[in-house]
Amino acid sequence: MRRNFLLTALLIATCWAFIQAQTAILPKPPFTARAVELGKQLAAKSLEIRQQITNPSGPAEPFKIMGNLYFAGVSNGEVYLLTSPQGHVMFGAGYAVAAESVEKNIEKLGFKMTDIKAILLNHNHGDQSGAASYMKKKSGAAVMAGFAEIPFLEHGGALPAGAAVPNIPPAPRGQGQGQGAPQPNPNQFQPAGANQYPPVKVDRALFDGDVIKVGPLTVTAYLMPGHSASSTSFLYTVREGNRDYRVFEFCCWEYPEDLSRGAYITEASVRHNLETFRKVLPVDIYLETGAYGWSGTLNQAPNLTITERMAKLRADNRPWLNRDIFAALSAAREVEFEEKLQKIGAR
Ligand SMILES: [Zn+2]
Repeated sequence: MRRNFLLTALLIATCWAFIQAQTAILPKPPFTARAVELGKQLAAKSLEIRQQITNPSGPAEPFKIMGNLYFAGVSNGEVYLLTSPQGHVMFGAGYAVAAESVEKNIEKLGFKMTDIKAILLNHNHGDQSGAASYMKKKSGAAVMAGFAEIPFLEHGGALPAGAAVPNIPPAPRGQGQGQGAPQPNPNQFQPAGANQYPPVKVDRALFDGDVIKVGPLTVTAYLMPGHSASSTSFLYTVREGNRDYRVFEFCCWEYPEDLSRGAYITEASVRHNLETFRKVLPVDIYLETGAYGWSGTLNQAPNLTITERMAKLRADNRPWLNRDIFAALSAAREVEFEEKLQKIGAR
């Protein structure tokens, strides 16, 4: 009797394991289940490092990332400079309050503001676009952004300090939010003042696959809605020694905990973004708006602080190069999205 019981238990356990294996969500090729595991660990590490950035708009030391690509931003990351003798491309303008410290960083690196020919903004929030108007005035560069960011950028952001950032254009000055407007997403809480930015005139609207050229520099823009209406990622190549490296700056992953609360998060658009991840492979150097997501930051010993990680990158650029980082994060994001979608569907 006891033996029968054990056999039945074993049979049930085996069936359960089999069913689990059948229903586990796998990423689509070329991403693998192993990459998903690594990606989950990296995402957790990235979140942990993010907690250490207590003053995101605080000053940071600028440094060369690789070849003709430089970091010129603040402690949260935000600003990169791709240079050439015929002019530079600036990625991100940074916080309004940090405009002068970013300008000093560019000069410290030995570059002139007036040689910047294009300012590419990945989305309309204050951390990325706060100093756009200042940088445009100082450089005379053309400002470019995803087409649906433009109403926000040209209106300017002036939300109260510490306010949640709504996924909708701010109401006209002097008026409240319209009736029936989508509610602000409390998960998108920004540091005080983070969403304040003066209006800036945008010179070029970017659409998916658009190519931006400055002298010999070529940057491809990919529109990846979610965090904002047309968050934009950038793909380009940098050269160091006699090798080319593919760089991808991604903006910005939004987790669809509840699709109804993110005006720009839809199943279709997230699927588009996941396909873009495949399209840009392989990625040698992975950048995000935040320094906590860089391949260079994540590809280091596990217990280092953000300060130690940044110091290491200033001294040694080898941690930047790891194609597994972006592939793993992408694989984990795809699986996480499918899992959450399944949960939403099951309700
Ligand atoms: Zn943002």
